Amino acid sequence: MIRFDYARAGDVAEAVREGAARDTKFLAGGTNLVDLMKENVERPTRVLDINALDLRRIEPLGEGGLRLGALATNAETAYHETVRARYPLLSSAILAGASPQLRNAATNGGNINQRTRCYYFYDVGTPCNKREPGSGCGAIGGVNRIHAILGASDRCIATHPSDMAVALAALEAEIRVSGPEGERAIAFADYHRLPGDDPSRDNTLRAGELVTAIDLPAEGFAGNHTYLKLRDRLSYAFALVSVAVAMKLEGGRIETVRVALGGVAHKPWRRPEAEALLVGEAPSPDGFARLADALLEGAGGQGGNDFKIPMARKAVLRALDQAARGTPQSQTDKRLA
Ligand code: SF4
Repeated sequence: MIRFDYARAGDVAEAVREGAARDTKFLAGGTNLVDLMKENVERPTRVLDINALDLRRIEPLGEGGLRLGALATNAETAYHETVRARYPLLSSAILAGASPQLRNAATNGGNINQRTRCYYFYDVGTPCNKREPGSGCGAIGGVNRIHAILGASDRCIATHPSDMAVALAALEAEIRVSGPEGERAIAFADYHRLPGDDPSRDNTLRAGELVTAIDLPAEGFAGNHTYLKLRDRLSYAFALVSVAVAMKLEGGRIETVRVALGGVAHKPWRRPEAEALLVGEAPSPDGFARLADALLEGAGGQGGNDFKIPMARKAVLRALDQAARGTPQSQTDKRLA
């Protein structure tokens, strides 16, 4: 770890002003940033602690939505009464991730901004275009069991590790940010990026911008939803494949269905045109298969991760069935007494 200065911001305006300085990183829960600093992957010269900012509230929005403060912890969010009742998909996805200790410290803003868990990204002795642009990609032709099958580029095949983000993609949340040029809202689908020619950038935040809140729309799909996560062990493991389904049925027919995949791409993976195939239809295995095939069209493996393609297809079919039946994947009650 290199030497760095530490400072605290008292409010959002001060954080934005101070955060604009070069090589400054915002520190909230620190559950990813501190690890990355210890490994010399992140090398900020200044760390700006934002934990004193008034961004921890979870509060109703006009027109029935809900605002999740960027500094509310993952545990506070997952167990919040309104989130559990109206957005159980989000609660379930959060509880599928990390461990109780991490969820108690990790914040909502930090969760969506966490970095990939690609082994090579963490190993500064290997090439990685995300960590060091232009150095190459160790995972292409290397060990790539956990890597992307969709939306990858010849520069980077990393996946986004968040479970929460997969549910937020299905719920069509909105990210609120403050920066040197003022405040703005970013549709969730536009927040994370595909790697393309510049894998060093995970998202569309501009320099100095700070995530202040995540806004959920009024529709939470509490009746028909599921978050299905497939991984190497039952807890404290990142998804090989995960599926968030949000569905609305009217008179036995599908009025809305959204399917977001985790563990397969540089961002939560959705294709609205695939979802549109089922609108107006009664739920059926045949329809689910058509959606899964359209959602995964163009998927390609790197050798070590080829297994993810059939795994993702089966996971989509199972998740759609669970959502349609109103029998979401069980996340055992993980609250500690
Ligand atoms: Fe780096 Fe991306 Fe390649 Fe991993 S997949 S080594 S993060 S460039």
